Amino acid sequence: MVQRIALLGATGSIGASALEVIARHPDRFKVAALTAHQQDERLHDLIRHYQPAYAVIGTERSGRLRAALAGQGLPTRLLEGPQALEEIVRSDDIDVVITGIVGAVGLGPTLAAVSAGKRVLIANKEPLVMLGSLLMATAQTAGATVLSIDSEHNAVFQCLPESTQQRITGAEVTDSTLAAADVMGVTLTASGGPFLHMPAEELACVTPAQAAAHPNWQMGQKISVDSASLMNKGLELIEACVLFGLPSCQVNVLIHPQSIVHSLVEFSDGSVLAQMANPDMRIPIANALAYPERIASGAPALQLQAVGALEFEEPDPVRFPCLRLAKDAARAGGTAPAILNAANEIAVAAFSARQLLFPGIAELVERVLQRLPVESVISLD
Ligand code: NDP
Ligand code: MG
Repeated sequence: MVQRIALLGATGSIGASALEVIARHPDRFKVAALTAHQQDERLHDLIRHYQPAYAVIGTERSGRLRAALAGQGLPTRLLEGPQALEEIVRSDDIDVVITGIVGAVGLGPTLAAVSAGKRVLIANKEPLVMLGSLLMATAQTAGATVLSIDSEHNAVFQCLPESTQQRITGAEVTDSTLAAADVMGVTLTASGGPFLHMPAEELACVTPAQAAAHPNWQMGQKISVDSASLMNKGLELIEACVLFGLPSCQVNVLIHPQSIVHSLVEFSDGSVLAQMANPDMRIPIANALAYPERIASGAPALQLQAVGALEFEEPDPVRFPCLRLAKDAARAGGTAPAILNAANEIAVAAFSARQLLFPGIAELVERVLQRLPVESVISLD
């Protein structure tokens, strides 16, 4: 049966990679809903090409897009605003939801998708960081299937036995699920970003454009800044705790500048399994779309002889304090990860608008974490 897909954030980097994989497999997948926020012209092109049943655009640009679509005879119903995102992911016309929206705004649609029992491919990690336990509990109750398409988490997933994978996709993970599979810990790899070896005093002078020039991945502005500060790895550490039921002390981070080993799992007999591939988001997306089968992703085959050496080093906690802040938030639990994430989103926006220097991101997040009391998470409110 052809799976009908809602692609949230279709105009972004994840959106583009997902569309490339989907377009290769018309016998398996159909684009049923596409969403964007500001890029109405790009969304218009995508609507013409894919002719989805639904499209959603941010309220500001909806008038313009509606006028552009008028009289074109397309089958697409155009909706607008954040409520519409939640409405379409719940629709009976949707089987699979891919969350490629950036930031905390993805929380409402992600929660709606899991509570409607959909197959949900999560790129948008911020909601998992903010409210992971509630999202997972909701997914389990509703019978949703949860698959992370963050490359590191997809790599860990691929290294686990099938029975464990099934518990993870069913959001049925407890704090003993990975121990039952003899897992001692997982190691997330990080490229180290564009400032990996930059002296500390120079970090105050870097620009948003330099931060966005990631050596191995083409990504949106926010996650590129997060990769440069290592906050992305901090968010991913919390994401791993949520998805795999691990305490933060069992999630390690290693710098691996080549971005070929996407993560590693260590077992009780001393074996370490790694997933390797070229750095290309089409690979985790194809893996999660077809799981438990495998399909072509369109990514070029890995040529290890061309890569040469694979290097690993410890992250520098002095120049990159965001990783420590995220670990502390993971340990504190409750609302601490949501506070960390919120402060980081504001700080990254300020840095990107040249209102804050790069080291100011970590400073601001730390100050906010010190000032706000941590409470337990009971509900979304
Ligand atoms: P982009 O900035 O490239 O794309 C973001 C998408 O979200 C765009 O389609 C944008 O619409 C839409 N969007 C932005 N703000 C809103 C809003 N307020 N309401 C609704 N939609 C909105 O980001 P990425 O694709 O790089 O990242 C998306 C998510 O995936 C992030 O959470 C990131 O951490 C995660 N991720 C990304 C990876 C990557 O390789 N890019 C890898 C792993 C995870 P528009 O452009 O029309 O304004
Ligand atoms: Mg990642």
